[in-house]
Amino acid sequence: MDTSPDLIVVGSGIIGLATAFLAHEQGQSVHVIDAADRVVGSSVQNFGHACFTAQADGIQDVADVSRAGWLRAAAAAGFWAATSGTWLPAATEVEMQVLREFAEHRGPERVRLVGRDELADALGNPGLEAVGGAHLPRDMRVDPREAAPALARWLADRGVRFTWNTQVHSAADGIVETTRGRFRAGRVVVCPGFSLMQIFPDLAERHQVRVCDLAMALIERPAAVRPEVAVLTGTSMARYDGIAAMPSVPALRRELAEREPDLVGCIANLMATGNDRGLFIGDSHGYSLSPEPFVDAATADLLLGKGGALFGVESPRVLERWQGRYADSPVTNLVLEQVDERTTVAVVTSGIGMTLAFGVADVALSRETVPGF
Ligand SMILES: Cc1cc2nc3c(=O)[nH]c(=O)nc-3n(C[C@H](O)[C@H](O)[C@H](O)COP(=O)(O)OP(=O)(O)OC[C@H]3O[C@@H](n4cnc5c(N)ncnc54)[C@H](O)[C@@H]3O)c2cc1C
Repeated sequence: MDTSPDLIVVGSGIIGLATAFLAHEQGQSVHVIDAADRVVGSSVQNFGHACFTAQADGIQDVADVSRAGWLRAAAAAGFWAATSGTWLPAATEVEMQVLREFAEHRGPERVRLVGRDELADALGNPGLEAVGGAHLPRDMRVDPREAAPALARWLADRGVRFTWNTQVHSAADGIVETTRGRFRAGRVVVCPGFSLMQIFPDLAERHQVRVCDLAMALIERPAAVRPEVAVLTGTSMARYDGIAAMPSVPALRRELAEREPDLVGCIANLMATGNDRGLFIGDSHGYSLSPEPFVDAATADLLLGKGGALFGVESPRVLERWQGRYADSPVTNLVLEQVDERTTVAVVTSGIGMTLAFGVADVALSRETVPGF
């Protein structure tokens, strides 16, 4: 039995850490418990891309709260966060039409249409093949290898207690049962990502929570490409809810099926972001409860070739390869449930958890519901 903090957070990924950060800001005493010995889950495996603008209309408020949280956390913990936006080159007239509709829908402050030359300069690729495109100025970049670990360190330095290497079995009525015994708190927020099925299997099954696995690589970044770069493509336009709601997206999907059958075949969201070491290139999507650990070489090569081409790189030099994993659900982008008076579950079930972490943490702590997910 332990002394009782105001809040126990289960999981030290970005959702748990954002929850701990906001609770700490509110003056609560916080204890974070994680099964791993450091931050090593989905929150370090991603692009570090906070793509607020591309999220659905109904959750733009949550995205705005998240953006403000990222800025406060970065300023406090001293990690890199660039407010440099996202670039979207349009490869065809249909993609350009989708972007025109999105710009009309959201307005020029959130979606700025740009010409090919500005895009070529932003991507450091004079030979960029594009008919035009867009810039989403509110989007942000962090380094996924740095941000969550830095936030955990900063919280620990400020008195937030971290118990690592400790598996949580259950959480109910302010009592958390773990491999190191029982902990109590006034409230518990459970943020275990796809491992939700280990703690609340019925809840996970009800929301059809599964694991999404993705092929990822870090390649050498040409000197002309800035580390803060973030690039989405046509496959992204068809994927992110905000853009995918545009009227020309069905035509875009038909065009992609004909023009890029291999990308469509591996359920790609072809995109790239930079950091100080290189360029993150990805990704494909596979869905299951227990993914195979193997990365298909043909899929990885396809993404490398197409991703490298965005920057005029013919033979990308790969620095790292990995299979990323995140929680997914075919029926919802967020599992946010008040399990009992003291226990809240918060799992983002789509590849948007970095983007929305602080917004989701805010609604989890305030016990609100968010219909727009
Ligand atoms: C390749 C890839 C690319 C992505 N790109 C983006 C992107 O560009 N933008 C974006 O917004 N999102 C992106 N995402 C998604 C994003 O990374 C996730 O949505 C987010 O990191 C989820 O955070 P989390 O805290 O829920 O999960 P995690 O970071 O996985 O953290 C969960 C933590 O819970 C712990 N845990 C689990 N079970 C237990 C237990 N029983 N007891 C104790 N601890 C437990 C784990 O050890 C882990 O530390 C991407 C993901 C991947 C994999």
